[in-house]
Amino acid sequence: MAEINNVIIIGSGPAGYTAAIYAARANLNPILVSGFQPGGQLTITTDVENYPGYEDPIQGPWLMEQMQKQAAHVGTEIINSQVTEVFLNEKIKKLNLDNGTTLNSKTVIISTGAQARWLGLENESKFQGHGLSACATCDGFFFKDKEVAVIGGGNSAAEEALFLTKFATKVYLIHRRDKLRAEKILQERLKQNSKIKFIWNSEVTKLNGNDELESIELIDKQDNKISNLKIDGVFIAIGHDPATQLFKGQLKMDEAGYIITDPDSTKTSIEGVFAAGDVKDKIYRQAVTAAGMGCMAALEVEKYLD
Ligand code: NAP
Repeated sequence: MAEINNVIIIGSGPAGYTAAIYAARANLNPILVSGFQPGGQLTITTDVENYPGYEDPIQGPWLMEQMQKQAAHVGTEIINSQVTEVFLNEKIKKLNLDNGTTLNSKTVIISTGAQARWLGLENESKFQGHGLSACATCDGFFFKDKEVAVIGGGNSAAEEALFLTKFATKVYLIHRRDKLRAEKILQERLKQNSKIKFIWNSEVTKLNGNDELESIELIDKQDNKISNLKIDGVFIAIGHDPATQLFKGQLKMDEAGYIITDPDSTKTSIEGVFAAGDVKDKIYRQAVTAAGMGCMAALEVEKYLD
């Protein structure tokens, strides 16, 4: 007879590890499958200053290593593998892994996160955390009295640009068209803010610098003119993609692919399946909110199993 586990957690960001810590301390013997980027989005950031509990800035990869060790220490079995197929509709859920094993479980917590979209330029990964970011809330503070640019024309770009005016002396909003997609009220706020400067119909074609980002090359799409903009920081805000491909056709999702849960809950459309963190949250997207949802998911699993 195949072993039937209490709970399997898919994903190893703050939501997944927090769910694991709570589930392990509730004696549920959780298994966590870490996925292709163990530690999640925080492993590609550097200084973290807004995760409570640390007086001085900490490093994102270090924080995730600590969470992993804490989850293991309290009794989580961590499998460094990827889930390739899930069968969630049965009472006992079945998960196939890329190491050839199959896991059975009464409950599943999905915390596979989301990935910020990047431009796909050369040097993009080299400059991440060195002048290039996809999260103003996380990294804006490091650009006090500097000049920064935000790429994108949606609500995220508008909000990030407005947020950055708290620190930066000038914020360029660079958009590939001449109309923003952002809500009108945000557009008004942008126009009224003297620190915001729009660069329309333009795309970034190169990132330049040695160790730190120093300037960007832009192409004006109307006349194909190339220009160079000296800049201290660039924030990419061209959208996120939730990692939910695996669950398509089984769980209810919104039009952007985020898993839908009950209000104030991590319960999904299938009994015994819970979702926590960025995979179900396109508004807050913070490590601390993801961790909070991971805690909620574990508590809801415990209640469900009871
Ligand atoms: P979004 O609405 O999809 O906007 C993405 C923006 O990036 C668009 O302006 C798009 O340009 C641009 N873009 C996409 N790919 C690009 C590329 N390769 N190069 C240059 N520009 C590119 O994404 P979002 O702003 O992250 O918002 C996602 C969802 O969350 C939306 O439904 C949004 O309303 C919601 N949201 C809500 C709030 C809020 O309610 N406060 C805050 C943030 C996000 P085009 O316009 O030319 O397509």
